[in-house]
Amino acid sequence: MSLFDENGKVWMNGRLIPWKDANIHIASHVIHYGSSVFEGLRAYAMPKGTAVFRLEAHMRRLYDSCKIFRMDVPYSEKEFSEAVLETTRANGLAACYIRPIIYRGYKALGVNPLPNPVDCAVLVWDWGKYLGDESIDQGVDVKVSSWWRLAPNTLPALAKAGANYMNSQLIKMEAKIDGYEEGIALNIRGHISEGSGENIFLVRNGDVWTPPLSSSVLPGITRDSVITLIRELGIRLVEETVPREMLYIADELFFTGTAAEITPVRSVDRVAIGSGRRGPVTKRIQDEFFGILSGVKEDQHHWLTYI
Ligand code: PMP
Repeated sequence: MSLFDENGKVWMNGRLIPWKDANIHIASHVIHYGSSVFEGLRAYAMPKGTAVFRLEAHMRRLYDSCKIFRMDVPYSEKEFSEAVLETTRANGLAACYIRPIIYRGYKALGVNPLPNPVDCAVLVWDWGKYLGDESIDQGVDVKVSSWWRLAPNTLPALAKAGANYMNSQLIKMEAKIDGYEEGIALNIRGHISEGSGENIFLVRNGDVWTPPLSSSVLPGITRDSVITLIRELGIRLVEETVPREMLYIADELFFTGTAAEITPVRSVDRVAIGSGRRGPVTKRIQDEFFGILSGVKEDQHHWLTYI
């Protein structure tokens, strides 16, 4: 069964069009050279209607990615944000995953991207639990990847660029083929970076650790939200270089991401983490996070935008 609603609508360059018509030409620059930047957001079914989580932060990161890659977007951040809301509304799903994408289109096929148009699209689909239905409670088994994360000054890790996901794909394929749900990549210095599509946090002696942005990680919006919640709970947050072996001796470990939300990790390289199941600190943070996303807790930070 397809995840996609083929009767749905896609927003492309300013217009909502039928899903089946949302095509691009094979000569588009993006297909040959990976020249795209994108976002992934979630809309949640709240008691008062559908709401998008952290729209402003995601759009800021999208426009940051464009700036890094010198893409002049033909829409203002506000106009593109409105397109995200409009597409979500038009598809009528109570909850969904939202994918805005900006890419170099069809004109010239040299490596130089600048002669090509900057095209924009937004699509949505229904996406359940990214790392498996039981992952949020039960946790997942992961490995340390033999592939490293992007080295500084090669592909910029702070940009959410399509091309970065060739590295993520190597990490993910290796993990899946070896019988794990996900891989954790080290950076070129051998320190912990992140999963193929998630940031990572670990709990040790009651403190929560996460690698800094200089460890080749995407500046995750869920990471940022979780850091805020951790501080509000009065837990000490340590944002410092994390050596690989701290994974094995952590009391608790969890991933964060829009798709993965907050997913506990129960083993790394077949070494059980803590008790081998979701720990109490992870549960506390999940309760805060999912509390806001279900309307049980107040949205104090104005993280939700109703469509
Ligand atoms: N790292 C990578 C490589 C990712 O692809 C993602 C998912 N966008 C994340 C971290 C988590 O980011 P966010 O919380 O903004 O979804």
